[in-house]
Amino acid sequence: MTAADLKSAFFSEKKNGGLTMSEEELRAADAFCEDYKAFLDAAKTEREAVTELLRVAEEKGFVPFEPGKKYVAGDKVYLNNRGKALILAVIGKAPLSEGINLTASHIDAPRIDLKQVPLYEDCGLALFKTHYYGGIKKYQWAAMPLALHGVIVKADMTTVTVTIGEDESDPVFCITDLLPHLAADQMKRPAGDVIKGEELNLLIGSRPFRDDEASEKVKLNIASILFEKYGITHDDFLSAELEIVPAFKAKDVGLDRSMVGAYGQDDRVCAYTSARAVLDLTEAPEKTMLAMMADKEEIGSCGATGMKGAFFKYFVDDLAAPYGLKGHTVLSASKCLSADVSAAVDPTFADVHERMNAPFVGCGTTIMKFTGSRGKGGSNDASAELMAYVRKMLGEGNVLWQTAELGKVDQGGGGTVASYIAELDVDTVDIGVPVLSMHAPFEVTSKIDIYATYKAFTVFNK
Ligand code: MN
Ligand code: MN
Repeated sequence: MTAADLKSAFFSEKKNGGLTMSEEELRAADAFCEDYKAFLDAAKTEREAVTELLRVAEEKGFVPFEPGKKYVAGDKVYLNNRGKALILAVIGKAPLSEGINLTASHIDAPRIDLKQVPLYEDCGLALFKTHYYGGIKKYQWAAMPLALHGVIVKADMTTVTVTIGEDESDPVFCITDLLPHLAADQMKRPAGDVIKGEELNLLIGSRPFRDDEASEKVKLNIASILFEKYGITHDDFLSAELEIVPAFKAKDVGLDRSMVGAYGQDDRVCAYTSARAVLDLTEAPEKTMLAMMADKEEIGSCGATGMKGAFFKYFVDDLAAPYGLKGHTVLSASKCLSADVSAAVDPTFADVHERMNAPFVGCGTTIMKFTGSRGKGGSNDASAELMAYVRKMLGEGNVLWQTAELGKVDQGGGGTVASYIAELDVDTVDIGVPVLSMHAPFEVTSKIDIYATYKAFTVFNK
């Protein structure tokens, strides 16, 4: 072998898609991300993500899944799990006994929830008590405009949908922070306590109710607005899911407009790209294709709408039964791309990564053989066989991709839904978009990587 041959056989360099992708494909990536940004603006909560994806699915002919029905190739069905998790499926030509091709992402994102008894008044201000959801740096959420999204289910079982802070004419809310002049003590706190959990109080009003007799007039005035505008009383907060999210919209980032900056890209970027790959199918795929968008990943995939819940397994059982098959027979023959984001190398904080195995912005979708922490603990460690299958698939599909690892060994770590699916005897590997400032209110991704990830799911569906 010549030096050049050896070099190409043994030295791999990350290649930026900006250099390797065709002009046409770069334009396609930019166009795709216009749709993606619109999705992010419409879907700031898991419920809104389900609503938005279902809206498109129904337009494309998807119908509610009927357990016990024998479907034929090309049929399009969905399962809406309590409005918070979603399965989209297109029936393939091959028998189910050959398995399904599954993508699994999550549509919940780190945020701040209202407590069940939230409303109080102090110092002439009305505020909501909160309890944060998922892994956040609490200080990042202070002193910025915030919106309130969610549902209130009243005792008569009617549902009030709340979205305040998104329309240009809407008011917004905020969590206040201390002025630097008086923050000497606060600035000595460890970063995790700069704003403590019980200091994440949402400012919602300051004008008193005009009544000489009443006490807590500001709180009373807010209560009167809540009653008049939404017909809700104090007790209705007990049966509500109200989420505080950033009030800003998704934007292009950079003078070259090469990136997307927005709230909730972990993991709606993978949810959107994987859902689109199924929604965009124009003919029956070879194998049955299923895109699963789960809730509750950020707090451990728990509950009936999380990936540890049984709804996915039940769905496969019900899908298989009319053909005289057991669900587990289908699952054991299936493959899953666990679609979740990876941590892109940030030049300002590059030393948490080991560069040879870390993902770089613009170098394509990332394949993570394993996640976990302290020696791969808690991870799904994909098999060499599955890695070979994925390599071949992405190579043949001309998909820009790179390998990834979540930080240096012993630096920390984390997990995805991969292990819960793998535990159902499904060959599973992690794939997704590298993200800067992951879990921050404003996360950044590359349009090239988003498009490459969409393309990977499209190739998987073939
Ligand atoms: Mn995630
Ligand atoms: Mn996350």
